[in-house]
Amino acid sequence: MNSKFELIYEGKAKKIFAHEDSDKVIIEFKDDATAFNAIKKAKFEGKGELNCLISSKIFEFLIKNNIPTHYLERKNDNLMIAQKIRIIPLEIVLRNIAYGSLCKQTPVKPGSVLESPLIDIYLKNDNLNDPLLTKDRINLLKIIDDKDLEFICKMTLRINKLLKTFFYNINIELVDFKLEFGYNSNGQIILGDEISPDNCRLWDLNQKNGTIVSLDKDRFRNDLGGFIEAYSEINKRINNFI
Ligand code: UDP
Repeated sequence: MNSKFELIYEGKAKKIFAHEDSDKVIIEFKDDATAFNAIKKAKFEGKGELNCLISSKIFEFLIKNNIPTHYLERKNDNLMIAQKIRIIPLEIVLRNIAYGSLCKQTPVKPGSVLESPLIDIYLKNDNLNDPLLTKDRINLLKIIDDKDLEFICKMTLRINKLLKTFFYNINIELVDFKLEFGYNSNGQIILGDEISPDNCRLWDLNQKNGTIVSLDKDRFRNDLGGFIEAYSEINKRINNFI
């Protein structure tokens, strides 16, 4: 990106630049893919642009449905303008179907449909490998008070209902996803980060015999191939639908 903008923060998949309006930031989506806390790394040309496009359309859909998000507009290619937020260092994972770490850490069988959505909260801390938290640990660390935590969990459940329908409409099962929230300059809690195949598990429902076909980052995590093709397919189905 144009070097006249100050780089505020660089994460694994995005760079955040200062905007001339101090309440806004410019988010650049990178082509890098990482997994297992960045032990596994690769670059896929076009991934940044696809995630920016997919996230923008999902944020626009959520905003239309009264979910407050940091998204303001998409600029060309892989750039998004968003409200500046103070990120709450929690990763809020919602699961509709058991998969991934839930099945590594508990006897729940992969693919089991959960009776009701499960929310798992992790500490956003790469040095500690994003540990799973408890409510008491969240209080101990003084990350957020009970009222704001309850607000975030309720909003996550609302977002799940909206996104499940959104993805069903394009023949995708929303297995699980990760959200991040933050406080904007008015002290309001809003949804931040991105919503893309990098942080959602998305299974293709166009399969006849119940085979699991992942159209998300599991293609990279599990060396399944067809990574960019899967992300392009999600983008294409969203475009055909909206
Ligand atoms: N996830 C994420 N960032 C993380 C960990 C998980 O976006 O640091 C997403 C992941 O893509 C999946 C969901 O959260 O959609 C649940 O992930 P899980 O806890 O099963 O971890 P995994 O086994 O994928 O590492």
